[in-house]
Amino acid sequence: MSDVRNVIVIGGGPAGYTAALYTARANLSPLVIEGFNWGGQLMITSDVENYPGYADGVMGPAMMQDFRRQAERFGAEYLTDDVTSVDFSARPFKVSIGRDEYLADSVIVATGASARQLGLESEARLQGRGVSYCATCDASFFRDKVVVVVGGGDSAMEEATFISRFASKVYLVHRREEFRASPIMVDRARNDEKIEFVLNKEPIEVLGDMKVTGIRLRDTVTGEESELETDGFFVAIGHDPNTALFLDQLDHEDDTGYLVTADRSTATNIEGVFAAGDVQDHVYRQAVTAAGSGCAAALDAERFLAAEHQRRAAATA
Ligand code: NAP
Repeated sequence: MSDVRNVIVIGGGPAGYTAALYTARANLSPLVIEGFNWGGQLMITSDVENYPGYADGVMGPAMMQDFRRQAERFGAEYLTDDVTSVDFSARPFKVSIGRDEYLADSVIVATGASARQLGLESEARLQGRGVSYCATCDASFFRDKVVVVVGGGDSAMEEATFISRFASKVYLVHRREEFRASPIMVDRARNDEKIEFVLNKEPIEVLGDMKVTGIRLRDTVTGEESELETDGFFVAIGHDPNTALFLDQLDHEDDTGYLVTADRSTATNIEGVFAAGDVQDHVYRQAVTAAGSGCAAALDAERFLAAEHQRRAAATA
């Protein structure tokens, strides 16, 4: 492919589609390489009740369809495939899917993050049917119900404490007796009378046919197996940013891999390459903040392209 696009958006979640919407409406004809499994983390969520504008709530996948369609209406073009490599060393930037190469003057990286999964077959089968990766999204569905949260980091403590506002009982299941979480977060959970710690246990199966009814645990010290009845199963064992493609070219946090953007901007260390959404944010991680960040990246790209255009016009005058 020899033609050079104004902008390529990599990623099809709230950040990517919002960047696509804004760049499309700015007449930049974005090419969105949305990923084979487009839609991002909302595709494994059921009802979304905290996205402003959907007064009656919306199913995660339906919301992503809406996002996608809205950008398409203004001319965003989609490739439903996974990027396999990028070359940001020279302009135009190169973005490849296998042997097909796409060129662009600017790139918006919006590949998101993925909640770590335990990797159990039963966990995958019951996603959206009681298995959740997001307390902020789903806790309120477990009003007066019993819930298990798995994990021993700050996320697990925070989620357990948040869910206890709704649930009648929260079991916090962790595979060790020591916690990665900060002591203050552990204390907060320990002092919550609805939360019971279940330590030295790891989930080996989520029980239930159409919805979660319990979990099977294995004691990490004795190997003994046991069952716990529960209505909900929240996996809070961390997130990983989807940054493998970019680590050798874009600045990122050493320990986590999250991309680093300039203060109050979506600019990366490479001029013309922007990053938006969860791929550069492990603090807020909401669909609405990701969408806001996608909008910011589109505006940053637009300004960059306008300045670039002026520079080129001046150079040829
Ligand atoms: P994390 O600190 O990496 O903790 C992950 C936890 O999940 C660990 O306790 C780990 O157990 C457990 N785990 C991992 N894989 C597992 C598996 N396959 N089966 C069972 N347990 C498993 O992740 P996080 O809690 O999401 O926190 C990530 C970062 O965000 C941290 O820097 C944290 O401080 C920050 N954060 C801060 C706040 C806040 O300050 N409000 C809230 C959330 C997150 P082991 O300990 O045994 O490895």
